[in-house]
Amino acid sequence: MGATRRLVIIGAGPVGVVAALDAARRGYEVTLVEAADEVDRNPRAATFHPSTLEMVARLGFFDAFVAAGLVARYFDFWDKPTMTRTARFDHQVLADDTPHPFVVQCEQHKLVEMGLQRMAGEDTFDVHLGTVVTAIDQRADGVTVSAEGPDGPVVFRGDFVLGCDGGRSTVRKAIDVEFEGFTWPERFIVLTSLQDMQAALDCSFRNYIADPDEWANLFKVAGEGGQPRWRAVFPTGVDQEDDDALSDAECARRLGALVPDAGLDALIHRKTYNVHQRVAASFREGRVFLAGDAAHVNNPIGGLGLNCGIHDAIELLDTLDELGPGPLDDHLLDRYERRRRSLIIEFVQKQTIANKKRLEASTDEERRAKRDELLATTEDPERHREFLLRSSLLASVRASKQIA
Ligand SMILES: Cc1cc2nc3c(=O)[nH]c(=O)nc-3n(C[C@H](O)[C@H](O)[C@H](O)COP(=O)(O)OP(=O)(O)OC[C@H]3O[C@@H](n4cnc5c(N)ncnc54)[C@H](O)[C@@H]3O)c2cc1C
Repeated sequence: MGATRRLVIIGAGPVGVVAALDAARRGYEVTLVEAADEVDRNPRAATFHPSTLEMVARLGFFDAFVAAGLVARYFDFWDKPTMTRTARFDHQVLADDTPHPFVVQCEQHKLVEMGLQRMAGEDTFDVHLGTVVTAIDQRADGVTVSAEGPDGPVVFRGDFVLGCDGGRSTVRKAIDVEFEGFTWPERFIVLTSLQDMQAALDCSFRNYIADPDEWANLFKVAGEGGQPRWRAVFPTGVDQEDDDALSDAECARRLGALVPDAGLDALIHRKTYNVHQRVAASFREGRVFLAGDAAHVNNPIGGLGLNCGIHDAIELLDTLDELGPGPLDDHLLDRYERRRRSLIIEFVQKQTIANKKRLEASTDEERRAKRDELLATTEDPERHREFLLRSSLLASVRASKQIA
């Protein structure tokens, strides 16, 4: 790589933190700039697929990361009107494809906290929390990032900038890139409960529950202090106000449809959020790159958003590793966009929209066809493996290396 290069990473969410740690491992000096003073602990992503585990395993705290989460070998599809299990997928089918034939259910804030701890006190990392990036200016030989820090304006300089600053990305706006796509008319509601849903349902740690009126997802996460919790996700009505969607009566009704004795006593968190399917029109402008939610957002059914954001970061670092000294090799750097943008559209946007539609199948005939299809897939070893290669994004990582 020649002289040490400095990468300025904007946003210390999970994608920015993984990018920072992996960049340092490859010999970069890293500036990490984060607007918030502390890590966001709201319930968000918690599913780390095998393809992503292979990347996290290189960062140096994999055992602690796995121990902070739950190992989920299986996931289930259910039919809500009858509350019967339709099919069970088993990651062990991928034993010859990956060293990690399982999912780790670990809240994303734990990865961020572990990553920031690892950076603390290391000279390679220049970390600025409570510092909001406001503008970016690039020239032939580098990029200048302007920000507002706790003590006033600050300026950072680097060879490259990686915008990992989330769905409302300032970096994306600074390089004037459209966020193409749409927002679903309904919002999603997440209810977090301490009730042991597995005892009630004999389900796995990850469950996709189909229903023509109101589908659901149900996941177990490790929680805090050795007290696991379950997250249930549902759609709101299109015209339903938040006050109504989050009311005791509505929460009890939604949970009760899954587990008849589900009460509100164990409910510890309730929240709605808007859901989008959007991809940035471009992932690169000169020396500035977009990754993670700054580059693409999708509905969370299938748990793909965070995973493919981490894949972006690693693909970009692989690309920069190939860059020689001298003028920028635009053909090589554009390969980042050629690979990531097309795969995001094929493997993530299409897949998450299909995942949502699968759970919404409206007629009995359609529901039966989807159930039969899932069951037949699990019963055929090769189709079972193909399904998991796609759902775990291993197929997407393999496909990326075929794009020149
Ligand atoms: C309820 C919910 C459930 C989800 N479940 C899953 C799941 O199961 N699996 C999955 O893969 N994905 C899931 N997702 C999506 C996942 O949470 C996101 O894809 C993930 O957080 C993206 O990480 P990121 O680092 O790109 O962005 P973020 O986590 O949004 O981090 C961006 C960071 O940038 C900082 N920032 C923003 N602007 C600036 C600025 N101007 N200057 C400096 N810093 C800035 C922010 O403070 C933030 O810390 C879920 C999302 C939600 C909302």
